[in-house]
Amino acid sequence: MSNTEEVVKCPVCEKYEATIEEGDGFESRICLNCGYTTNNELSFDSEYSDIFEKMQPKIIQSLKFEDNDLKQYWYPFSMYVENKGALYPEGTPESWSWAFSPVMVIPIMERLQYPIDGEENKYHETRLAVEHAEKFATFKDVYAKLNGE
Ligand SMILES: [Zn+2]
Repeated sequence: MSNTEEVVKCPVCEKYEATIEEGDGFESRICLNCGYTTNNELSFDSEYSDIFEKMQPKIIQSLKFEDNDLKQYWYPFSMYVENKGALYPEGTPESWSWAFSPVMVIPIMERLQYPIDGEENKYHETRLAVEHAEKFATFKDVYAKLNGE
């Protein structure tokens, strides 16, 4: 098992900031400039591409980029970090930006309102506070926010 890292041109923003990570037959790319990401399972003809896309929020679906060189789809990145927060694209295809929502601890008295699906008498202790979402103009800024910089 080996992991290599390489930086190439991003087809979406055309900046040389797309990082390639490889290992065990899996290859993923993420552009640190525009925040688009892809991997070799997101090829045009794969069944996984369809399944993946259906699981994404509308805004991510609509911002899909077709990479005719790799024959793969790229999508804006989204990420959830436990006890910290989530970053994701927000808005409309014509006008969108990056957003960060913090994870907040739910006060004990309010936890009954947040049952865990499929588990009896178990309740979430934290939630994503989307009402405190912050907007960011660039992916670098929102990524730095998630990483606590
Ligand atoms: Zn890019």
